[in-house]
Amino acid sequence: MYVARTEDRASFVEWVLEKVQADFGKSQRMKVLVKPNIVGLVFSLLIQLALLEETVERALEVLISKPRLSGHNYYIVGADGKAYDVEVTAHHHAVEELTEGIFVHANHYHAQELRKSAIDYSPTSEMREASLRAYLEGRWPHPQISDFKVALSIHEGGICRHEEKNSTVCTCGALIFDPANLTTCINQGYPCLSNWQEYSIE
Ligand SMILES: [Zn+2]
Repeated sequence: MYVARTEDRASFVEWVLEKVQADFGKSQRMKVLVKPNIVGLVFSLLIQLALLEETVERALEVLISKPRLSGHNYYIVGADGKAYDVEVTAHHHAVEELTEGIFVHANHYHAQELRKSAIDYSPTSEMREASLRAYLEGRWPHPQISDFKVALSIHEGGICRHEEKNSTVCTCGALIFDPANLTTCINQGYPCLSNWQEYSIE
């Protein structure tokens, strides 16, 4: 077992990637990180690498240049307001610079070229996105953290979704990040029950 110290995270991820590429098709142990014909990093390792970078541009470069195992959507937001939305599949990516206004992303690709190859696993995704956007655009140009808490509690469109009979899907929690103020609000469970805890770093 290899245990990485914080300062070793980058070299650990590179080590994993090297092992996966070297052992591809040979090692049973490494097959947890590969799919047929694809060798790359799982999204959690990519995030670890991106978080080590000191600028949003360098974090963006990590997300689009490292070999990836699968599709995902990432936000990169700097304390100075510089922000990108990064949609990826294992082989392709689409980057949108986020400027003024409200940007909402649920569980479907925005980029048409990526939608062609994506599986449509979340039938409520477009509805949830539209519902959130409509609420938050009504709060522009001065949305408050409290507005985001309310937005994530909306039941119409399935944003805050409760456990139902014969359904395996429900909302398990919610997070709000405020990069400029180095603050995070975390709600365990249904957002409408308002169990928000606030965490700040110096
Ligand atoms: Zn609810």
